[in-house]
Amino acid sequence: MSGFVFNEKPIAIESGEGPYLYADDGTEYLDFGASYAVAALGHSHPAVTSAIQEQAAKLTYVQASYPVEVRTELYEKLATLAPGDISNVWLCNSGTEANEAAMKFARSATGRQKIVATKRAFHGRTLGSLALTWKQKYKKPYEPVAGGVEFVSYGDEEELAEAVDDETAAVFLEPIQGEGGINPATAEYLQTARDLTEDAGAALVFDEIQTGIGRTGSLWACENAGVVPDILTSAKGIANGLPLGATLCADWIADGAASHGSTFSGGPVVCAAANATLDTIVEEDLPGHAAAVGDYLTTELEAAVEEHDLPVREVRGDGLMVGVEVKRGANRTLKHLALSEQLLALPAGRTVVRFLPPLVIDEEHADRAVDAMTNVLS
Ligand SMILES: *Cc1c(COP(=O)(O)O)cnc(C)c1O
Repeated sequence: MSGFVFNEKPIAIESGEGPYLYADDGTEYLDFGASYAVAALGHSHPAVTSAIQEQAAKLTYVQASYPVEVRTELYEKLATLAPGDISNVWLCNSGTEANEAAMKFARSATGRQKIVATKRAFHGRTLGSLALTWKQKYKKPYEPVAGGVEFVSYGDEEELAEAVDDETAAVFLEPIQGEGGINPATAEYLQTARDLTEDAGAALVFDEIQTGIGRTGSLWACENAGVVPDILTSAKGIANGLPLGATLCADWIADGAASHGSTFSGGPVVCAAANATLDTIVEEDLPGHAAAVGDYLTTELEAAVEEHDLPVREVRGDGLMVGVEVKRGANRTLKHLALSEQLLALPAGRTVVRFLPPLVIDEEHADRAVDAMTNVLS
């Protein structure tokens, strides 16, 4: 038996280029989920492909305790690109591992155990990160998960103020909740979280695994709010398809970190892919592009809803992280989008259609998505 966990889709994908995926029968699909925000530069981006090929020919793997140029380059790049003076980098293989490391480092640096997370949060599926994830369906059958986690309502400053105290090691926040329904936090809420954690001596952790690397119009979503955390986690599109997670830490966190490790931490091929991805994002100003095309997409979606009286409650998000709350259920809408309109997107809960397209899409791709939504919903 194979593949017993994933609910596979009835489309067999064979290749990809830019924002398009091609099925084995030749059908072209516009990938407006970027395959879980991973194909940030689009599929099979030539800069990433050649970086992978060159590095694989030179050195595929060496244990992480030996410095290797591509990894050192990535450490320096991430330190430079990180918000504020977060300059210590831990590399791993996925988003959930990046958050596990954040939990561990926050606990060891503070000597405390309690972690505050938010209702409807998604932080990953291993037993530590799962403890910070809200949805019972993901968690309940696998209990016990890691302990010491307290949940507060996302966006409620008073609840947060009550929860954060001198026993708190960390507060975990997504600047925009992704899986939980595309719920943006206000800049004031993020700033309050900053002030409360600072006063309490706790670490503020921003999970930017979905919001990061340019998707919301800045390289990191927290930059839109002008708030710098103590720890920032990244993954998903950071190596445009190769598995990489990063935990970026302020000095006081890194200085207090106890033993941690992973065999594959910062393997050379993955680092080469990440360097090429981040260089392209910066050189082509993809955050600025995402802001402009994202505004266009949101405006056109709202106009279509108005003009055709579509059954939509709200269009929300930032940049190219856009949620459309539909009245008739997300999964049904997604199935029609894929099979009738060849547009691939993602759910965010039961009622939200989530668009996380590659950052390189242009207005014509946005138009195609708006037309597809109009056709499916009218
Ligand atoms: C996808 C995601 C994760 C988990 O990442 P994996 O690589 O699937 O482990 C964690 N947090 C957020 C916000 C995510 O979107």
